Amino acid sequence: MRRVHLAAGIARYVWAAPCTAIGLCLVAPAFLFGATARLVDGAIEVALSAFKSSNFPLGALPFNAITFGHVVIATSQTELDRLRGHEQAHVRQYERWGVFFFVAYPAASLWQLLRCRRPYIGNWFEVQAREGRSNEPREA
Ligand SMILES: [Zn+2]
Repeated sequence: MRRVHLAAGIARYVWAAPCTAIGLCLVAPAFLFGATARLVDGAIEVALSAFKSSNFPLGALPFNAITFGHVVIATSQTELDRLRGHEQAHVRQYERWGVFFFVAYPAASLWQLLRCRRPYIGNWFEVQAREGRSNEPREA
């Protein structure tokens, strides 16, 4: 039984690995300017706040936090702490959808837009994350 849990855990990481790799590639340059990272709840959390000292306009970013597979990128450690539950819900979604999340998420936003609704707020991945429905407990 323990092997099944281990295999399922590995499969979740492998399934989401292409998305995680994209997240790591996107955030890699930030480490040259002092961004920090740590492992929390099975995800790599990256705080960009060190950019403040490099005159990078963090306020210009269109997000406070964003998730790519098992990489959560936020403007600061405070935002990582504040949004952890929401972003962990997105991690669970990546574990379920894998690379198809990159199609499903924009499609869900487009669907809302076509229905004259707000594409971000109405996106059902965001609705799930806000309601914590996709934040199921992980198997040990
Ligand atoms: Zn979200």
